[in-house]
Amino acid sequence: SYVLYHDQIIKNGSIPVDPEDRGYLFGDGIYEVVFVYDSKPFAFDEHFDRFVQSANKLELALPYDIPTFKHLTDELIKKNNVQNGMVYIQMTRGVAPRNHLYERNMQSVVTGYAKSVTLESIAQSHANGIQTYLTEDIRWLRCDIKSLNLLGNVMAKRKAADYDCQEAIQHREGMVTEGSSSNVFIVKNGTLQTHPASNLILNGITRQIVLQVAKELQIPILEEAFLIDDLLGADEVFITSTTMEVTPVVKLKGQQEQSYKIGPVTSELQKHFKAKIQNSAST
Ligand code: PLP
Repeated sequence: SYVLYHDQIIKNGSIPVDPEDRGYLFGDGIYEVVFVYDSKPFAFDEHFDRFVQSANKLELALPYDIPTFKHLTDELIKKNNVQNGMVYIQMTRGVAPRNHLYERNMQSVVTGYAKSVTLESIAQSHANGIQTYLTEDIRWLRCDIKSLNLLGNVMAKRKAADYDCQEAIQHREGMVTEGSSSNVFIVKNGTLQTHPASNLILNGITRQIVLQVAKELQIPILEEAFLIDDLLGADEVFITSTTMEVTPVVKLKGQQEQSYKIGPVTSELQKHFKAKIQNSAST
């Protein structure tokens, strides 16, 4: 396969890995995951808007402009012959002797790869829904930055899997924030509700597109934090992410348990989200 290193697409295995890269030492870096449908990156501009925002929040310097990132992403997809799959792009602050204090003028290190995925397991989750595990959100207070620091997310996902769940639903003192790698929505009496885009969640690109779709469908929207009790009392629950699109939740496990049916609002949003993918693939 071929990978991205700085601004070069090169054969995998030939990237020099520097142990003093701050990405390794401190998790000092950011990333994006973009899905590829029909050999085209979906919502590239939205993902790289967020990439730039994450970079700015951490004072990371972009080594080249966004059109260059776009060109390199397209090249990665082409070189690896990816029809349906994903592209991962990472940027660390770069290489320097280990010191917590960072300098602002460092040379960022960009790496990336593209992989094909089979759409079967996601289709399975869409048809049957997934089980989720309710767990405390132990992460830091800048979850709006898509940084490489993901230990809280990783631990939540492991815990969920240990209870036979595909995703964790995290809460801060009873207030539901988001999944370990997804955003969480509930539907109650026809109203769609999700945590507002604050420092406590990552403002998912899928989340933003789903809210846009809901607006177009004139589904009432509440961007306000909700409680575990609201989650338990919801008519429908679903999660959103680049890799899971709109996935219904049929079970909540953990300190409190609940079962859900795949509801009409979830199905409608899922259908229209897929239509958006189709539209962008055909243009
Ligand atoms: N929240 C977290 C913590 C995530 O890691 C992700 C994606 O991986 C999301 C939400 C969903 O974001 P997006 O829809 O941009 O993939």
